[in-house]
Parts: sequence; C-alpha cells; structure tokens
Amino acid sequence: MKFLAPDIVVPSVGDLDVTWLDARGIKLILLDRDNTIATPKEHVIPPSVRTWIARARRRGFSLAIVSNNTHTQIIADTAEELGISYISGAWKPLPFGVKRACKVAGVLPHETALVGDQIFTDCLAAKLAGTVSVKVSPLSSNEAPWSTALRRFGETCAGIRRETHQRPS
Ligand SMILES: [Mg+2]
Repeated sequence: MKFLAPDIVVPSVGDLDVTWLDARGIKLILLDRDNTIATPKEHVIPPSVRTWIARARRRGFSLAIVSNNTHTQIIADTAEELGISYISGAWKPLPFGVKRACKVAGVLPHETALVGDQIFTDCLAAKLAGTVSVKVSPLSSNEAPWSTALRRFGETCAGIRRETHQRPS
C-alpha cells in the first residue's frame, strides 16, 4: 500500500540528515518516544539521539515528542531530559495530536516531519495530518509482542523489507 510508505526510511534518528529536512522546508520535528528516541522498557535515550536533537535545535528546528503512551510522567521525564515539549496519549494514527503539536509550535503540517518506528501509528498519522513521514528502525527488540507483530505487518503493507534492530551508540 503506497499510501502507508514513509517519505524516507533511516536506521535511526541519528542518521536523519538535517539538511534534507531543511531542503524540504521543515521547521518542526515531531518525535515518537517509545523505540524511536528511548527504549520502551528500560527508558534509555541513546547518546546518538541526544546529540542529534541538540544539533537539530542549534540549526533552528522546533522539536516535540508526540507519543501514544498514556504514562504521562514517563513522557514528561524524557521531554524534560531533552529540553523539548511533549504530547502524551496522542492517539496516533488519528491526526489530532499531531495537528495540535503543529498548532502549538505555530507551524503548518506540511512544514513538519513526524519521526517514528511504527507504520500503522506514526507513518499513518503523518499521512493523515499532512506532515512529512520519517520511518526509523526500533531501538530495542525488548517490547510488547503485539508491538513487534504490528510493526512487521505494517512494514509488509508499506513494502519495507524486514529490518534488523539497531543498536545505536
Ligand atoms: Mg514507537
């Protein structure tokens, strides 16, 4: 299903080229939390993610977390650690949380990129909200079995070959 296919697929957040985002006119970068910028169970943020976020901020991008996770304190802790804002319980793939994040930042959806590890939540939400869609591989295989199943089905539907788990430094 071509509709589900992300605009760009990269191994991890740290591999996303900020000059590519600049060239697309992107001003706001929305980040999924679980398995995109932090491991879902151990809550570890890889140094490569921290470095990339700091670099993106220095280049003038606005950044925010948009997470479906309803454990608000966990999301708030990650956001505080990274010095960015957040929306928890976003209900992706419904586009409302993504659109709200755009509105809060004062940026239009087509000037926004949504980065995430799941086709059926992140990439579909990006398409429905009208943002650029960036797919990363999951940070960790230590996740709920339904998450892995949903990811594999989504990747098959989007025509993405099975990815191996990344272990960024
Ligand atoms: Mg995720």
